[in-house]
Amino acid sequence: MQIVGLVGDVELERQREIDRNQVWLARSNGRMRLRLGEMFEKLVRLQGHRELGFSTTGAYSLERLSRSGRWMGETRTVARRVAELPRAGRAFDRGEYGWCKLELLCRHATAETGVKLLRVARSATVRELRQAFVEGPSEECDPERDAFDRSGIDDTFLAWLCKSYVTTWLPHLGTSDKWEHIYALDLYRCSSPVCFRKDCTAHHIRFRSHGGGDQAWNLTPPCDDDHIDGIHTGRIRVTGRAPDQLTWYIGREPVLVVRGREKELVPPALATRARLLVP
Ligand SMILES: [Zn+2]
Repeated sequence: MQIVGLVGDVELERQREIDRNQVWLARSNGRMRLRLGEMFEKLVRLQGHRELGFSTTGAYSLERLSRSGRWMGETRTVARRVAELPRAGRAFDRGEYGWCKLELLCRHATAETGVKLLRVARSATVRELRQAFVEGPSEECDPERDAFDRSGIDDTFLAWLCKSYVTTWLPHLGTSDKWEHIYALDLYRCSSPVCFRKDCTAHHIRFRSHGGGDQAWNLTPPCDDDHIDGIHTGRIRVTGRAPDQLTWYIGREPVLVVRGREKELVPPALATRARLLVP
């Protein structure tokens, strides 16, 4: 049964690969068609087909391009509309959808509906896109997509998301708060020796309520859980001077003591004694 399943998986992957290749070829073909339409449009405006001895555009198309006049007429119409809907044309050139969807967009989209219909075209099937032209684009609330549309950025939604994230957060990198220098000392990782989390909070080794100050040696960056649920509930204790001379006591009655790189398991019988020895 397993072998049958494996053969099935291989077959399915092969079918998907053929599908991917066909889609790639069809979209390349679509881009070629659009370029042909754009060039043909220029030639006709210059009356070039007549200069070259053809009485009609159809005759030129059939003779020179092996395409019917009707095929070329439809192609020129799309090329003219793409000039008015440049975002639709660029999304098509990036391979975000094929010729059928581009043709539908060019036939039905207006300056007002174009952006929303372009969004539909990226994710919907051709049938769903046709339906959208009948009913009008959905007014579903999608704040990220709306922001993307308003931005006017000529790129994919994913690229816009990544750029927005970097643009928003890059200025804050290295300046998250006044304890940045403390987090950096521990490479932005929890300073507890038994934790690997990557969020940091600033903990005063000698509590401020006990007279501890903001000196670097009195600060260490445990993660939120180790700080609030561990240290401040007595499950973890830390003493000494940061960053290299700290001693960590793990457990309310310590079962593990860590000094620098040295770890020491505390036998249960000694755990109560160890707790009494914690400064
Ligand atoms: Zn932690």
